[in-house]
Amino acid sequence: MTNTSTNGEDAPVWFSDGSVIVRKGGTSFKVHRSLIESLSHNFFDSDGIVKMSAEDSKDISVYAVTSNNIDVKHLKSIFTHLYHRIHLSADAPFDHVLRLYISTAPDYANMPSVHELAAKYLNEILNINPLNVDFTDIKEIQAALNCSRAFEHPELQTSLEKALYYAYMISDNVIYPGQDLPPPTPVDGPLLYRLSLTDAHITTHLMTSITDFFSPTIFQPACGSHMACTDIFAKHWVALAADPVLEDGGLCDTFRTLNRLSTIAWVDEKVLSVCDECLKNVREEWEEEAIVIWGKIGEWIEEAKSSSKELPSS
Ligand SMILES: [Zn+2]
Repeated sequence: MTNTSTNGEDAPVWFSDGSVIVRKGGTSFKVHRSLIESLSHNFFDSDGIVKMSAEDSKDISVYAVTSNNIDVKHLKSIFTHLYHRIHLSADAPFDHVLRLYISTAPDYANMPSVHELAAKYLNEILNINPLNVDFTDIKEIQAALNCSRAFEHPELQTSLEKALYYAYMISDNVIYPGQDLPPPTPVDGPLLYRLSLTDAHITTHLMTSITDFFSPTIFQPACGSHMACTDIFAKHWVALAADPVLEDGGLCDTFRTLNRLSTIAWVDEKVLSVCDECLKNVREEWEEEAIVIWGKIGEWIEEAKSSSKELPSS
């Protein structure tokens, strides 16, 4: 297989010896039909793809993806996976695995073996390393959650439900019941998500619980194994760790905040810095805290669901 461009994950998927062109909007992929057909028995016959007969004269078939459910990013995830540009594992980028899971579902590209693998690793990424998850794309998380319900991945369904409520909680584009709609946004503005009474109740409960739980971490300076390191943490904690959290809403968005803490250079007047051992230890503590919080998110959602039964139906 010959790719006319470089082989990085962002490079266009265009193989000069490819046997078919798959197009979505203005983006085309030249790929190998046999490879796709070895994984999906109906990719080229599905409702969401149309053969462009007018362009067949150049010895190559051109197909246009017409399904509204598959966009260029989904196709890119499929081809990036098929050509092994990103190895599918618990360390793979969350966005990639999320899109691969959605787009290989039976009602889209229908690649059962890839879909099952993506389900496995998507669940692992969420549970093993929530700090690597980007919780901002509500639309894709919702789509994956619907997919997990339809195609019976119960463990993944639980994980994606947690991801969705977390995403609601940190989003500025969520409208709570009774809240006024913002002024109309431009066509290319962000999508707005209107929460039901129950979802609003669960999201609010999650917000309160996570803030209560996380506050001690953010208002008590980290400790090192050495007195000098502990002193540096203590001296800079308010300015570097606590104050920014109060300014940017990071008490709810605990995963973003824990990631940020790990990137701070704990240096005292550019002379004394926290030693590598202490840095490694506190970073491990923050990773462990992320796993604990991820586990508790499930408990808080269940708590809120129980108490939401008293709400008027929404
Ligand atoms: Zn130290």
